[in-house]
Amino acid sequence: MEFDLVIIGAGPGGYVAAIRASQLGMKVAIVEREALGGVCLNWGCIPTKALLKSGDLYETLSHLEDYGLSVTGRSYDFTKVIERSRGVSKQLSAGVAFLMKKHKITVIEGTAKLEKSTPAPKIVVALKAGGTCTIQAKSVILATGARARVIEAAGLLPDGERIWSYREAMVPKSAPKRLLVIGSGAIGIEFASFYRSLGSEVTVIEALDRILPVEDEEVSTAAKKAFERRGLAFRVGAKVVKLAKTAKGVVVDLEVGGKAERLEADIAIVAVGITGNVENLGLEALGVKVDRGHVVTNVHSATSVAGLYAIGDVAGPPWLAHKASHEGVHCVEHLAGQKPANLTAPIPGCTYANPQVASVGQTEAQAKAAGHEVRVGRFPFRVNGKAIAAGETEGFVKTVFDAKTGALLGAHLIGAEVTEMIQGFAIAMTLEATEAELMATVFPHPTLSEAMHESVLDAYGRALHL
Ligand code: NAD
Repeated sequence: MEFDLVIIGAGPGGYVAAIRASQLGMKVAIVEREALGGVCLNWGCIPTKALLKSGDLYETLSHLEDYGLSVTGRSYDFTKVIERSRGVSKQLSAGVAFLMKKHKITVIEGTAKLEKSTPAPKIVVALKAGGTCTIQAKSVILATGARARVIEAAGLLPDGERIWSYREAMVPKSAPKRLLVIGSGAIGIEFASFYRSLGSEVTVIEALDRILPVEDEEVSTAAKKAFERRGLAFRVGAKVVKLAKTAKGVVVDLEVGGKAERLEADIAIVAVGITGNVENLGLEALGVKVDRGHVVTNVHSATSVAGLYAIGDVAGPPWLAHKASHEGVHCVEHLAGQKPANLTAPIPGCTYANPQVASVGQTEAQAKAAGHEVRVGRFPFRVNGKAIAAGETEGFVKTVFDAKTGALLGAHLIGAEVTEMIQGFAIAMTLEATEAELMATVFPHPTLSEAMHESVLDAYGRALHL
């Protein structure tokens, strides 16, 4: 079979690149060994949002009296919570199948391996249905994604029974009574938040000295306090010496501030990062440069081998679905000889816990370390009218500006719906907006987004409601 472009992996990197390539007139095939939509649609972004919605609603029921309402007999059916989440994934995966058909993209179900050829490596696919097929294309894009990182020496190795990775954590038979979550990145915090909302006793263990360590320090501190108010417990600066199974659960030996500590629970979730799927693809034989589990690429996603490109998680951080899609579009537009999508656009990051966390650009510390003299604005939701009316007063909006030029360097939000609001700042940064333009923008009233405006005003001593 011959194609203009073959993409290996149908996650948000691969399938989006396939659609864009088809729009640009290329004959495209996509090879997928598991399910269309990849980890994001089937085992990540999407099914976790369904779980978190169930958890948030259930938790809201516990304080309905705040809104003058009451219910009796609050309960949940865990099987149905999981079924709903799986159903949402199934619906979206079917949606990707529809899109592939609509754009006349050939979907090949199987596991691909690369072999030396020109103008691009050829692809041998071990078909799910049995047998093999060989495909030659002008270009090949690797979009094989990533999987959970394991640290065998410390016992951070999911067994599918009592030590879970994100996969098992998404489809258990019941919610654990006592849960340990190892790692406080987005995955760890989202599962901690979900299981806590259903009543689990949750302790999060983080090696660094603060939770959500990629976020601005003030956001980390506020997030920890907010989660603690919901009953979550944390051990930060905690080195995992050993995680092990016991007769009935799990036990973890920690070293916290030089002191040994032992914690027990029924289940542990390991969420200590991810590593790229670079194995068994024939990369070594081709001489593709791989660095610490990720394929090395240039600005157009080209690898060290002619005709071979890599996008998304397999090409390194940030490990985010929207980064993969964006890279995919850029790579394909470059292949088509177009002026490609802007790769220097800032990439927002979101954690969908209760409360939510969202950010884009540099933290205050990063901006200072990069040599900027900064102006910082802050505005708390507790004085925002819509937040008070909605009973969602937790959190704030923090903005960081370059004091000399007025350029928005970063925005850091914690609170209700901030994962929707962050896009306003992402657009502003992509358009290189300054403080003057942001101040001159009209924000609708009453909205949570007014806190964004006020945060900008505050950076320049002009906040109206502080
Ligand atoms: P991560 O790298 O974001 O976080 C892992 C955390 O584990 C870090 O804080 C790290 O310090 C800690 N850690 C590492 N080793 C440890 C140890 N031995 N003991 C205790 N703590 C340890 O990784 P993740 O949360 O697994 O997520 C993987 C990727 O997927 C991330 O890049 C994340 O951004 C992305 N993701 C995004 C979303 C989202 O956008 N909402 C959701 C889930 C995952």
